[in-house]
Amino acid sequence: MAITTGTEAAQGTGGTGGAAALEARDIRKSLPLGAETIEILRGISFSVAGGEFTAIVGPSGSGKSTLLGIIAGLDEPTSGRVYIDGIDITNLPESRMARIRNQKIGMVFQAFNLIPTLTAQENVEAPLYVGRRPGSPAARARELLALVGLEARLGHRPNQLSGGEQQRVAIARALAAGPAIVIADEPTGNLDQRNGHNVLDLIRRLRDETGTTFVIATHDPTVAGAADRSISIVDGLVASDTTVDGNERSGQGERVVAGGVE
Ligand code: ADP
Ligand code: MG
Repeated sequence: MAITTGTEAAQGTGGTGGAAALEARDIRKSLPLGAETIEILRGISFSVAGGEFTAIVGPSGSGKSTLLGIIAGLDEPTSGRVYIDGIDITNLPESRMARIRNQKIGMVFQAFNLIPTLTAQENVEAPLYVGRRPGSPAARARELLALVGLEARLGHRPNQLSGGEQQRVAIARALAAGPAIVIADEPTGNLDQRNGHNVLDLIRRLRDETGTTFVIATHDPTVAGAADRSISIVDGLVASDTTVDGNERSGQGERVVAGGVE
């Protein structure tokens, strides 16, 4: 149910046989630090096909959250472009960006970020009240909470749920609008190992059952191992891009980093 305008169609990625769910083209991000400028991202390019589960991996401070903020349209790159589902989201007016975020991008955070005064069901319903949608938000929320195994927790507030359950509610909320892509920043970072595994298994199952594209950031190589593909960021560049069977991806990141050292 893509809502497109002539402008969006004209801005589509084109030439690659159907738009990728996500395309990052030469993303750079510099920030002032005192009198200096630090370059956090120095030319990141990759594209993610629909239904792919990709991990962005790198040590703490390597720029993963900065990159995710840019691909989610929460932050602007210094240069480069981001396409979501073929739509160029770079430098859009905020009102238009807000609509695309609501319709096409689901976000999941390390700290769950549920609204504490709302029940699980109300948290999942919340994004469905933005804009005009067919169907009942309550019914859709119940269906999604059943999909993540929380049909018995509809009326619980976040402080009445375990961390693992809260993250499952957050994932259901991210899926509520049927987004093209779900972007999750360290989704297992606040969970113990067992609940972390459960969340990763859930993401894999949801990808299989709904075809949703997932991009997660993690500093933990074992978490990245749960994804189909792992893109590692070193010194602001893509240092490697491998699929789960160990094959190096080609033709996406044009930049070759020898040793990753300046
Ligand atoms: P990661 O998520 O991989 O841990 P971040 O994207 O959070 O990395 O941060 C990358 C680098 O950018 C870090 O060195 C961080 O200190 C710096 N940084 C992030 N945001 C800002 C900001 N608003 N101002 C200055 N430096 C920042
Ligand atoms: Mg981070």
